[in-house]
Amino acid sequence: MLAMLYQRTKQSLIAFMQEGCQHTADPSLQRKAVQVNIGVLMMQATVLVFLLFFLGVGNEGLILSGLVQIPWSLATLVAVNRAQHAGHLNLARWFLLLGVMADAASALMLAQGQVIGIHFYYLLFAIVPTVFFPASKWREALLLSGLNLAMFAFFELHDWTPHPAMLTLSAETVHAMRVVMVISCVLIVAFLMIQAEYSAVKKEAELQRMASTDSLTQLPNLRAFRQNYSREVARARREDSPLIVGMLDVDHFKRINDAYGHPMGDHVLRLLAQVLSEQLRASDLVARVGGEEFALLMPQTELEQAQLICERLRITVSRHRFGTVSQPLAISVSIGLARLEAADDEEQVLRAADKALYQAKNEGRNRVVLYRPGFVQAPV
Ligand code: GH3
Ligand code: MG
Ligand code: MG
Repeated sequence: MLAMLYQRTKQSLIAFMQEGCQHTADPSLQRKAVQVNIGVLMMQATVLVFLLFFLGVGNEGLILSGLVQIPWSLATLVAVNRAQHAGHLNLARWFLLLGVMADAASALMLAQGQVIGIHFYYLLFAIVPTVFFPASKWREALLLSGLNLAMFAFFELHDWTPHPAMLTLSAETVHAMRVVMVISCVLIVAFLMIQAEYSAVKKEAELQRMASTDSLTQLPNLRAFRQNYSREVARARREDSPLIVGMLDVDHFKRINDAYGHPMGDHVLRLLAQVLSEQLRASDLVARVGGEEFALLMPQTELEQAQLICERLRITVSRHRFGTVSQPLAISVSIGLARLEAADDEEQVLRAADKALYQAKNEGRNRVVLYRPGFVQAPV
């Protein structure tokens, strides 16, 4: 029962936070929508915590100041949520900012005055538009920041008569409350900034992943292969350990496309990528570097060992049935292997593996060929 309630609450909270995202495909606008929703939830929490705190203190003026904020905070909650739901993302941002401004003004003007410094919140509200508004709406963000700075200046410079009960608070209580007020402002800014930074880091990581992943097979792409390759070459040189590079190409792949269609060709490539990943060791890397061409990287491996692994790979591929249940399909692959030698530069090893691959093609395909010093490629 309790677990169900927890689940329900969690689900509605997540749904609330994501409201508005459905109206845009732009991830940065979606992030802003979530941040506005988080902002409105933080407003509810802050108003509630302060109300409980004021009830605890028991001062009539403070309690009144807590109570007058409730309608504003609930109205902001509903207005922001409705605007997000209807796809008015910018209106939702304005509702939130105007809502919190009106909320603080009502507490100040109807009860607190400047006694505990609630107008310091206008400094907070002057900062947050930069979080809630996208860069393209900087004019609106600037306008709201200016408005809030003006509100702060106004209440800092002009006295406002508080509720009489506020004047009965002891100097220590007032002092402590000022501290709490300032700390809560700083904490809210810090939270929003950390949250913004966190989602930016997550987005960057996702972009990074997408930039180095092949979308068809989900294997590392050519870019990722080159990065790994340079790193492994440097490591092999540093540690004086062997490094093997392999080039693998599907035999007569064009025929598969011609006979069964391009979508079936794509399906075969996806399945082949799975088979290759499963067959290689965790320390090896397989990347899709061309249409039906894959590169293998085997650190700390000798040529003979790599040959055994690739033979096993080749046999597994030739026995595997690709295609579909109703249309099983056999394919074969040719593999060229080369070892990084002390005198080689990075490109030479790749070219050597390529030469070995073409040798394998020339010798009749479905085989593994090793490139050795003095290797003479058979005439085409
Ligand atoms: P070989 O044994 O000499 O390698 O013959 P092949 O037919 O595999 O070689 P070729 O390079 O002539 O043809 C490669 C074919 O791979 C041509 C192209 O249509 C196909 N191809 C390349 N990328 C993709 C892809 O992403 N999806 C599909 N379905 N086919 C692709
Ligand atoms: Mg091919
Ligand atoms: Mg090819």
